[in-house]
Amino acid sequence: MSATGTLYIISAPSGAGKTSLVKALIDALPQVRVSVSHTTRGMRPGEVEGVNYHFVDRPTFLGMLERGEFLENAEVFGNLYGTSQLWLEQTLAEGYDLILEIDWQGAQQVRRLLPQAQSIFILPPSQQALRHRLTNRGQDSDEIIERRMREAVSEMSHYEEYDYLVINDNFAHALEDLKSIFRARQLQLEAQQRRHGGLLAELLA
Ligand code: 5GP
Repeated sequence: MSATGTLYIISAPSGAGKTSLVKALIDALPQVRVSVSHTTRGMRPGEVEGVNYHFVDRPTFLGMLERGEFLENAEVFGNLYGTSQLWLEQTLAEGYDLILEIDWQGAQQVRRLLPQAQSIFILPPSQQALRHRLTNRGQDSDEIIERRMREAVSEMSHYEEYDYLVINDNFAHALEDLKSIFRARQLQLEAQQRRHGGLLAELLA
């Protein structure tokens, strides 16, 4: 896969700010695309079909799973999620870097299949900030918030499986951290050789 884009996995507990950070990141980096997962979860207010997710019913999802159409899949909080393999392969082959916003279970599957994938875990700056962010969403009851806190701690317990950790204390700083990870990768030898083959040949002539 050396002639293609880089695959990035980004995971975070709910409330860490992952979605906003990834959106800002792809707005800033034109060569980066984000994979739109399939899910059986219901659409939340403000979400758009084909943008946030491909929203499908369970039989449709299970049919795709049976036909081997997912690179990875997982059940998270009772809903099924999966990454379409075809789109991922096409997008990487076109030379784009690609972000998968997936949970730790999906991350483990992708690392096994594509060990060159770079993985990033986004953490909130404290438990208190996380609780505050989950509460501020204003969409969930206390009971659901407590459950989400437990689920967040469980997701965060996998942080050591990732290559990079970004703490989202300050949005702008966290975004710079993310951009630095992508930038450093673009400056690695192989990527630069692909980009600047002509220059390198000329310099050594
Ligand atoms: P939410 O329903 O809040 O958008 O996402 C819940 C969790 O599912 C998040 O941890 C998110 O990263 C994860 N998730 C979203 N899409 C996928 C996917 O395609 N595969 C896996 N494994 N997890 C996903």
